[in-house]
Amino acid sequence: MAYSMRIGIGYDIHRFDDQSGQLKLGGVTIPHARRLAGHSDADVLLHAITDALLGAIGAPDLGELFPPSDPTYRQADSRWFVEQACRRVHQAGWQVGNVDTTVVTDTPTLTPHKAKMRQAISRLLKVHVSAVSVKAKTTEGLPPATQGISAQAVVLLTKGRGNKRRRQGSRRPIHLRPGR
Ligand SMILES: [Zn+2]
Repeated sequence: MAYSMRIGIGYDIHRFDDQSGQLKLGGVTIPHARRLAGHSDADVLLHAITDALLGAIGAPDLGELFPPSDPTYRQADSRWFVEQACRRVHQAGWQVGNVDTTVVTDTPTLTPHKAKMRQAISRLLKVHVSAVSVKAKTTEGLPPATQGISAQAVVLLTKGRGNKRRRQGSRRPIHLRPGR
């Protein structure tokens, strides 16, 4: 079978809620004075990743598959959306190669939470943590990052020769050190 690749892009934005509560980001609960408004748990990063996965296989997007108007998805755990998108990806014969993401917000500071988010996302996507990137950007006090959080995600899917070697390689532990 020939080796082939697909790429998908996802974007999402949620505004901060007036109520305090838990902030969910990348499948991780982050202590913050403000939570994000949304029908589900409003995990803006997982929503962007879900749309990137769905987009890569030409499937309908998150809002079409799981409409906010449907009470089934009220307060939904967004990890479930990612799992559903992954299931479709695998059913279509694709493997996730890697995912690269950017979260845009001025608060909270995401640096202390990035490792946990990468781990959570890698578990959901069934890939090694090195295949997951979570980058954070601020907008230096300019809107919309003061009023909410947005996220972008790009995923690469692979199929065919090379997947086996890729999977074996992904089992090797990695030891990241700065300045290497
Ligand atoms: Zn969303």
